[in-house]
Amino acid sequence: MSEIATNLTQIRRQIDLACRSCGRDPQTVRLLAVSKKKPAQAIKDAYDAGQKLFGESYVQEFSQKSAEIELPIEWHFIGGLQSNKVKYLRGKTALIHSVDRYSLAKEISSQWAKIGKTADILLQFNLGGEATKSGADEADGLELAQRICALPNLQVRGLMTLPPYCEDPEEVRPYFRRLRQLGEKLAAADLPNLLIEELSMGMSHDFRVAIEEGATLVRVGTAIFGARD
Ligand SMILES: *Cc1c(COP(=O)(O)O)cnc(C)c1O
Repeated sequence: MSEIATNLTQIRRQIDLACRSCGRDPQTVRLLAVSKKKPAQAIKDAYDAGQKLFGESYVQEFSQKSAEIELPIEWHFIGGLQSNKVKYLRGKTALIHSVDRYSLAKEISSQWAKIGKTADILLQFNLGGEATKSGADEADGLELAQRICALPNLQVRGLMTLPPYCEDPEEVRPYFRRLRQLGEKLAAADLPNLLIEELSMGMSHDFRVAIEEGATLVRVGTAIFGARD
């Protein structure tokens, strides 16, 4: 078995355990393999080990690798996104996790309109208030959701966050909880084109805590593919 296959088996087991420990059905948590900065071969190895969902963070890298790999992969885009690059993702991503401003949502809407399709997106929030990270402010959440939901060719499927890095995953728990609560608040607003089915939260070192707080998509890179350069 390849090292990637071994890692995947271990992570799936940990996801299972985390679900069982908090009474969740393991089927409600999906593993997104974050393959940024990893070669196409690593993706193929993970695919051969049964992994079908992959997340990329850089548009150019995504375009190259997704063109090179002829496998029925479900691609998610999870990185910071400039509006002028949205056209390169058009029709190719199952879910864009990183929508944090109206102008970006508007561009996704108009690009997907050109192919007569609806883009599935998540709204990304920067709950730690870190200047270096993308994500909308929690306080603007309702207004942003209202404006974005009025756009055609878009379906909001949930929320995403990338909390501050903490050595101890317990310190990250309050951010995960806040994202879930924000999701509950937005769901209660009953907006058109908005469903809170997905909470994209948790990475290699803290996905267990994220699952306990309601994550439905955990984004795991290093623990599957090893350290990035
Ligand atoms: C890189 C990245 C991940 C994966 O992080 P690991 O610590 O390698 O698991 C998850 N989410 C986002 C948004 C990322 O950019």
